[in-house]
Amino acid sequence: MEISKTDGIILKSRPSGESDITSVILTSDYGKKRFIFKGLKKSRKRSIAAVEPGSVINLLYYNHEDREFQIVNEFIQLMSFAEIRNDYNRIMHLFFLLEIVEKTTGFGIKDQVLYAMLVSAVEKVSSAEHLEYLTSFFILHLLRIGGILPDYSKCEYCGRNCINQFHVSAVDLKPACKNCINKGPVLPAGTSAFVIASLKNKYGEINFDRFCREEILDLIFHQSLFLEKYYHIEIKSKGYILHP
Ligand SMILES: [Zn+2]
Repeated sequence: MEISKTDGIILKSRPSGESDITSVILTSDYGKKRFIFKGLKKSRKRSIAAVEPGSVINLLYYNHEDREFQIVNEFIQLMSFAEIRNDYNRIMHLFFLLEIVEKTTGFGIKDQVLYAMLVSAVEKVSSAEHLEYLTSFFILHLLRIGGILPDYSKCEYCGRNCINQFHVSAVDLKPACKNCINKGPVLPAGTSAFVIASLKNKYGEINFDRFCREEILDLIFHQSLFLEKYYHIEIKSKGYILHP
């Protein structure tokens, strides 16, 4: 048994028994882990709001590798994002981001790049004007750091160099050059411009006004199908952001 201390973001929480809360948390130092907050539901000095999905906390626990849930000894809330909780659309995008991270990561695999990316995206959910663009941007980078982003410099069909001039396949998100767009269903040209801008620039540097919201929603739909197929998962919250 060793004492461990780390920051983490709550991916999901549920009540357990009379007074406990169990959570799946993506920690900065130990990857995704299951935790139990003993007595939190009935605590007078602690609010359960601190363990709502998306909340960022610093936690101290005794690590028992053979236990399913690590028992949280102490925690403090670092970020709460109260602005998100008053806005249905923001809540849905938050849940969607948390769900895809929860379902595409394994337990106990440290990934500080993913952790930083998720915390930064959740921070942006509380203020972003363009939530669809933020969500689609996040998925592209999730695919990138997971090593499963297609190579957008070469046409998937003929291998021709197609930087800045391609369509995104509606089947597997791969690039098709202008000579090959008849070889399978492709997304509108604006989609590839969004993909290029998202991969070349930081989020804050992109001028989102030049993209069409409907096209980006369509891209999120196809990104969701890609994730579901690749990871053999079902993303339950996708319906809420695609058909609000
Ligand atoms: Zn081609």
